[in-house]
Amino acid sequence: MTNIRIGNGYDIHRLTEGRALILGGVKIDHHLGLLGHSDADVLTHAIMDALLGALSLGDIGHYFPPTDPQWAGANSLNLLTQVHQLIQSKGWKIGNIDSVIVAEQPKLKPHLAAMKETLGKTLGIDPELIGIKATTNEKLGPVGREEGIASYSVVLLVKST
Ligand code: MG
Repeated sequence: MTNIRIGNGYDIHRLTEGRALILGGVKIDHHLGLLGHSDADVLTHAIMDALLGALSLGDIGHYFPPTDPQWAGANSLNLLTQVHQLIQSKGWKIGNIDSVIVAEQPKLKPHLAAMKETLGKTLGIDPELIGIKATTNEKLGPVGREEGIASYSVVLLVKST
C-alpha cells in the first residue's frame, strides 16, 4: 500500500480594474485585480486543486461552486482550510507543495516570502515546505498580454499514520 500521493492543480483568472490582487492570501498593490466569484486567488486555488487531486477527490468547483452565493467574495484561505481539513480527515498530511505563478506584472518576487508565511500559517506547516516561484510568460498569449494571471501547483501528501 502506498503511503505517498501526488497531486497537481492549475488555475487562471482574468485581470480587471476595480478588484484587489490577492495571491497566496497576500494583497498586492497593483492597478488591476483578479476577477472571480471568490477573491480569485489563483495560487491558493491551484494548491487546493492539487490537494484534492492527490486523493482523487475532484476539484474546488465541486466543493465551492461559483453558482453558490455563499462563496461570493470568499477569502480563499478559508476555503483552503476546509480542503486541508478534508485531506486530514482522510488520514493524510502535506509533505510539501511547489507552485509557479505566471504573471507579466506586477513583479511578485518581493511578495513570495509573505505568501509562504501566510499559506504556512493557514496550513499549520513550515513555510519551508511551500515552494512558490514567479515567472512571466515572456509577453506571449493572454497572460503575456496581462489579461490574466495563472498558477500551477504540485503537492505531495504523506500518510499520517
Ligand atoms: Mg479559481
